[in-house]
Amino acid sequence: MANQLDIESGIPVARSAPAATVGLGMPGYGPPPAPAFDTHHPPDAALLADCVHCGFCLPTCPTYVLWGEEMDSPRGRIDIMKGALVGDAFDASSVRHLDQCLGCMACVSACPSGVRYDKLIEATRAQLERRVVRPRAQRLLRAVIFGLFPYPRRLRVLRGPLRVYQLTRLGRLLARAGVLGRLPAPLRAMESLAPRLGRVHPLPERVPAVGTRRRTVGLLTGCVQGTFFPDVNAATVRVLAAEGCEVIVPRRQGCCGALSSHAGREPQALRFARHVIETFERAGVDTVVVNAAGCGSNLKDYAHQLRDEPGWSPRAEALSAKARDIAELLDELGPAAPRHPLPVTVAYQDACHLAHAQGVRDAPRRLLRGIPGVEVREIAEAEICCGSAGTYNLLHADFAHELGERKAAAVLATGAEIMVTANPGCWMQVATTLARLGHRMPVAHTVQILDASLRGVPADELRRLALDGPGTVATATAATAAATTP
Ligand code: SF4
Ligand code: SF4
Repeated sequence: MANQLDIESGIPVARSAPAATVGLGMPGYGPPPAPAFDTHHPPDAALLADCVHCGFCLPTCPTYVLWGEEMDSPRGRIDIMKGALVGDAFDASSVRHLDQCLGCMACVSACPSGVRYDKLIEATRAQLERRVVRPRAQRLLRAVIFGLFPYPRRLRVLRGPLRVYQLTRLGRLLARAGVLGRLPAPLRAMESLAPRLGRVHPLPERVPAVGTRRRTVGLLTGCVQGTFFPDVNAATVRVLAAEGCEVIVPRRQGCCGALSSHAGREPQALRFARHVIETFERAGVDTVVVNAAGCGSNLKDYAHQLRDEPGWSPRAEALSAKARDIAELLDELGPAAPRHPLPVTVAYQDACHLAHAQGVRDAPRRLLRGIPGVEVREIAEAEICCGSAGTYNLLHADFAHELGERKAAAVLATGAEIMVTANPGCWMQVATTLARLGHRMPVAHTVQILDASLRGVPADELRRLALDGPGTVATATAATAAATTP
């Protein structure tokens, strides 16, 4: 279990502190660009000036909580940006502090001055991506991640071999032989995070509403959600139809660009955004529904991302205005279908890109509490990220481990039977961490709990599926190896 920072004394005691704060054992970068920022959308000086250095954000910032290092806090990072804006060069240390930000936006929620750190880090990341020469191993890792995860077809190709790997329990053999434990941390993380794969039943392109149609909605199926968690999409379609929505699932919708935009890969992100806009314009829907928090927050940001492209700006605005998280939409519509009792206790985990980036906190809780028999328990330190953060648990696997352990301990402390979350990244991160610590726990998406209630699925069956069904922890393989590797 990671040691935690004593905020009062400010003493960082997390295992990763020496590497993270002073860069011990970490690789260097190429020559610093001069000036640090180019003229294409540098961070906005007026937004930077909004920070009054009050420090209210510090206790909610996961990297500050881990290491107690000012430069790994929101205001420290804002200072780096301010310096760069007036001509300071990016050195290895400033790039490291900026890279180590999870982009969780907890600081945006906490800031009483309304500092738009989300916009600041988004602009800074794009500059870093364009201008900083990263070490070779990092470039290679990024090329693999961003050449694979935002491409559903490539992910589908990976499913077959991965399923064979899981079914043959090859991972266990490799773990016992010590092979997995010797892999580089990002590869170990990829292996251990992969959820148990089940069969994929393709969704129909159009599903009529049950009873009177209240809305025509389009479903964004998502790259990781669609490939590794198809049951969540199936449950989403069933619930929407039961609640009076005609559901359109456009074919070949591609990636929404969330992973790319959160990593500063602007050209790739914008290419994906334009395709998604065209796809849902053609579908002619009133609302675009999203069931993965990171994707939802990205769709709502299209208006900003495409703000200076004349042909696209109004279309992006229209798409952003139509985007809704599934919980947000269902809450807006109000219940129509009868709920069957479901006696379970659930720990609801706020995904950062739902709670902080979209401000959606009450709607999922209301949906869950609206099911007779469901008891919702709150997780301590709900505002602190679990360490998943898009690709963070692959790019910074060691830091993510510590945050995952912190979140897993908080989830266990609730004593709930099932953890509920609205993001595939959080799901994999927390479920895998719990398993690594020897506490396998059922995990489900909010919409799957509602789906179980609407269909009258018994609580035992729901618990069983959420523990051993598709999308659950596959096996304790690399996770175990990593936990036992000094
Ligand atoms: S970002 Fe906001 S909360 Fe944090 S130091 Fe600046 S003004 Fe204060
Ligand atoms: S986005 Fe998250 S990790 Fe980054 S500075 Fe804000 S609170 Fe800290």
